[in-house]
Amino acid sequence: MSGKLYLVPTPIGNLGDISRRMADTMAGADFLAAEDTRVTVKLLNHLGLKKPMVSYHRHNCSTAGPAIVERLLAGESCALVTDAGTPAISDPGEDLVALCAQHDIEVEAIPGPCALICALSVSGLPTARFTFEGFLPQNKKNRRSHLDSLKGEQRTMVFYEAPHKLEDTLEDFVAVFGAERRIALCRELTKLHEEVVRTTVGQALADCATRPPRGEYVLVVEGAPEAPAQEADPQAALERVAQLRGEGLSLKEACAKAGEEFGIKKRQLYDMSLGK
Ligand code: SAM
Repeated sequence: MSGKLYLVPTPIGNLGDISRRMADTMAGADFLAAEDTRVTVKLLNHLGLKKPMVSYHRHNCSTAGPAIVERLLAGESCALVTDAGTPAISDPGEDLVALCAQHDIEVEAIPGPCALICALSVSGLPTARFTFEGFLPQNKKNRRSHLDSLKGEQRTMVFYEAPHKLEDTLEDFVAVFGAERRIALCRELTKLHEEVVRTTVGQALADCATRPPRGEYVLVVEGAPEAPAQEADPQAALERVAQLRGEGLSLKEACAKAGEEFGIKKRQLYDMSLGK
């Protein structure tokens, strides 16, 4: 019988966030798969544990993943840990989970620290419906076109961002969402210099000039206001459907997304697209 993969979250800055279950799961696993073994060894030392470890990260996941799966199929259990936060959220853990699912290997997630949820909950912005966007594309053109696709997004949007890219990203936010859009900049969560700045996108950009960004950030951006019904523009919506189709969405998916953005029923847009 195959073993199990455990997804073990680790603190995003405060060792006090280690849970009993996190520690017990690591202690009980046959081996750990760690994003950076040097980081994980510090955590193990803190817990007084010694465990065999293998590396599993962005640059070796295509070979390390199948090797881990082989051991799981042979009956061993593995605890997957990253440098910080919940494995499989904006890191290659998602590939390992998919691989385990393909091989019918059981995967168990231990709940724990996650920067996205920590930031969203403290943002002061609506949390009932949100979309997690992770890291934006590095390339400026791709980043802008990704943000353009979020122009009409009414749900709260959550982004991960590195400090040296923050200013450029805020510039794009101003261009796409407008300077008055509300944002919560959640920095160094759970750490000594934790800070949550609730402001507008325009003001956040202006602040970069006087206070260069430092540390780790989660950006929580207010969604677009609901479009008034009379603004529905079927022609523009059809063009948007064509654009989304070009990006690889099925006709059904494109109509659902464009319909939401333009305040037009997806069924109506679907029929219009088929010339009905
Ligand atoms: N899997 C992790 C999780 O559950 O949050 C995220 C991994 S991702 C590679 C790292 C990004 O998460 C950072 O670039 C930053 O945007 C965000 N992050 C991680 N720790 C943070 C913290 N303490 N405060 C703010 N953002 C943080």
